[in-house]
Amino acid sequence: MLNTNAVTTPPLAIAAPRDLCTDCGVSRTADAKRCGQACQFIKPDYAAMETRVHGRARDLLRPDEMHFGPFRRMLRASLAPPIAGAQWTGIATRIAERLLETNAVDAVLTMAPDPDDAWRPVPVIVTKAEGMAQCRGMRMGYAPLLALLEPARAAGYKKLAVIGIPCQVYALRALEAQLGLEKLYVIGTPCSDNTTTERFHHFLELVAAQVRTDAANISYLEFRADYHVELRFADGRKAQAIPFLQLPISQLPPDFFPLTCRTCVDYTNVLADITVGYMGGEGGQWLLVRNERGEQLMNLLGNEVNTFEPRSAGKRRGPVKGFLANTLRAAGGLPLRRMPDWLRPIVGWLMPRVGPRGLEFARARVEMKAVESIVHLRREQPARMKSMVPPHVWHLVEPYGLKPEEDEHA
Ligand SMILES: Cc1cc2nc3c(=O)[nH]c(=O)nc-3n(C[C@H](O)[C@H](O)[C@H](O)COP(=O)(O)OP(=O)(O)OC[C@H]3O[C@@H](n4cnc5c(N)ncnc54)[C@H](O)[C@@H]3O)c2cc1C
Ligand code: SF4
Ligand code: SF4
Repeated sequence: MLNTNAVTTPPLAIAAPRDLCTDCGVSRTADAKRCGQACQFIKPDYAAMETRVHGRARDLLRPDEMHFGPFRRMLRASLAPPIAGAQWTGIATRIAERLLETNAVDAVLTMAPDPDDAWRPVPVIVTKAEGMAQCRGMRMGYAPLLALLEPARAAGYKKLAVIGIPCQVYALRALEAQLGLEKLYVIGTPCSDNTTTERFHHFLELVAAQVRTDAANISYLEFRADYHVELRFADGRKAQAIPFLQLPISQLPPDFFPLTCRTCVDYTNVLADITVGYMGGEGGQWLLVRNERGEQLMNLLGNEVNTFEPRSAGKRRGPVKGFLANTLRAAGGLPLRRMPDWLRPIVGWLMPRVGPRGLEFARARVEMKAVESIVHLRREQPARMKSMVPPHVWHLVEPYGLKPEEDEHA
């Protein structure tokens, strides 16, 4: 049961049918037509939105803004002590708790696990700091977070924080001026390779079989920056790390990832006030403080957080080129060039030591995502290339020989 005096789950309207949609919740609001102006998958305008939210668009000449969007500072960070049950050290949860503890907001909109399926996200309104304990950790899938905006306003909440993934945050920012809020803080996480919770369960079954357990025994899963997936188990057995190369990815159907998640163009949540991820964190967390509100959110953590300068090592060009070659083959229906089984453990051992690390790992992942978006959209919905691919994405893929065709320019 999710409803307590700290956490509520209002009943939500049915989603309107939409092509290319991650059900962010806008189609369930009273004015479902606003999808036309809010949706990341229709005609996003990142430069205008970045300017509206941060006071300026990303500066392609400033180090790393082409990849990660506008930011004031970037940090490696860890909460000390970490929050038990959090996905990493719990920075996202702690920021939200501090906002509620200090009455800086009336409510936080975020996701809790479904009581019947801990991997399924359920949108919730949290009004007391202790309610955030129910929300920590990652669920796989997407759920209509923004459908909570109307019930939250109806309950009289005018100062809100939202924790969301990029496709939710884009729509939130597009509608922000119409919401009548006094205050809005946006805590964003990066997001990539998401799929529906149903499909994720299929992957979980395959992984569980590989490590000889039941899927129900896997309580935690994360793709780490050291090229391993970490698994934790409900029965208390020791956590296990599997090299990416040994995952059962080739056994997944070609449409395992929906077209939305293969073609979205904002990996790092560029419209959040603060992005809380792990990609550039080398085993810790990775923060991008993007504007003055992001600084306020950092200040709320005080000395509960240890911060360090980000570092960078290795070279991304080779791995991204290899990824492009495999993406082209897969999109063309050809089997992936598979590494011989005897080589996998060796390469799995080498990658964390010689592959791109720290910020170079994050840049590599952002470039891979950009490459993937172009290859899949061009193949499956070419008419959308012109409106859906923003100019900075073309800059990201240029070194790999991908260029806009005549009718693909924004
Ligand atoms: C599908 C998905 C893919 C991700 N991929 C990456 C990635 O490639 N690189 C990277 O750096 N980071 C990624 N993240 C973010 C990362 O997993 C952590 O959430 C982030 O680092 C914050 O860690 P934390 O310990 O501070 O979070 P916590 O304190 O544990 O808080 C996590 C917050 O995220 C919310 N949340 C959980 N699941 C969902 C969901 N499905 N949709 C929306 N909100 C949710 C929770 O409600 C909670 O408020 C991804 C997150 C998701 C949901
Ligand atoms: S993702 Fe959101 S804005 Fe886009 S079509 Fe779906 S409900 Fe509408
Ligand atoms: S991968 Fe992209 S489209 Fe899919 S849920 Fe994440 S942000 Fe949304």
